[in-house]
Amino acid sequence: MASVIRHDWHREELLALFALPFPDLLHRAASVHREQFDPAEVQVSTLLSVKTGGCPEDCAYCPQAQRYSTGVDAQKLMATDDVVAKARQAKAAGASRFCMGAAWRSPKDRDIPKVAAMIREVKALGLETCATLGMLSGAQATALREAGLDYYNHNLDTAPDYYDSIIHTRQYQDRLDTLAHVRDAGLKTCCGGIVGMGETREHRAGLLLALATLPAHPDSVPINRLVQVAGTPLHGTAELDPFEFVRMIAVARIVMPRSMVRLSAGREAMSDELQALCFLAGANSIFYGEKLLTTGNPDTERDLALFERLGLRPMPVTVDAAGHDHPGTVHADITTGGGCGRAA
Ligand code: SF4
Repeated sequence: MASVIRHDWHREELLALFALPFPDLLHRAASVHREQFDPAEVQVSTLLSVKTGGCPEDCAYCPQAQRYSTGVDAQKLMATDDVVAKARQAKAAGASRFCMGAAWRSPKDRDIPKVAAMIREVKALGLETCATLGMLSGAQATALREAGLDYYNHNLDTAPDYYDSIIHTRQYQDRLDTLAHVRDAGLKTCCGGIVGMGETREHRAGLLLALATLPAHPDSVPINRLVQVAGTPLHGTAELDPFEFVRMIAVARIVMPRSMVRLSAGREAMSDELQALCFLAGANSIFYGEKLLTTGNPDTERDLALFERLGLRPMPVTVDAAGHDHPGTVHADITTGGGCGRAA
């Protein structure tokens, strides 16, 4: 029997899933995965920044925050023509979706027409469009939607009760408000978080609970593993047990059965074996190729070789008669930088 899509999960249920014997948890997650997807197919995304660094926020994991000395130089918003040239390259490489990201706390109203122009031109190439620009007002979300934006990325980062250990320049409610504006504007959502930031299992369950009890499950759920960057406050944090990371993927798959669960930042440091366990646990989306924000990402060749060894294949692009893509879209997500929890 297919899993029921629920929005009424309780913390105790999630903690009970986390506590299952590892084989039982993976079996359950893999069963849910198979109900909803072909487990041999993995959605593929590519990242690029359109406006890097100089961010006024204080996310403790992020090398793009201007207050930390990380060697990331602040750059201005790219010219539309340059973005479109990148979009053409992405399309030629087989991408169907292109995400433009900027390291802003939130866009100023005067920025919106510039981003809207990018969206329109990228859309005109026949690509789907995605953006990650920070917090949005309802009017800004609507303006981006009217320009042709399909998806908006905005991560919750961590559990509500761990948030003020990581970020002080905004509140959890600010994130939830932007997600509501994005949904109300008719945009699809990409929303996840970061683990390995010194949080407890309860916090990890709390993040998944916050995601799984949103009015609509995010279409994509990026699960980032902290990439430690010298100069950021989280540099030197104890590494998360890799099996706990797999448990995080498995519980995400179980509580949000139809979402694309994405291996995001931190994948470069994962062994092939760990990535294979993640696929078994229900991950079905990765970043591929281009630099992932301001950190590295496994070479395309390594990914192709891993797919070959595991018998996996990129999800094909399928568009139905109404023009809606199915979850298997190949993406080129062009985003902001670093371990940016917002953008991955
Ligand atoms: S994660 Fe995003 S919002 Fe936070 S400092 Fe980095 S670029 Fe800014």
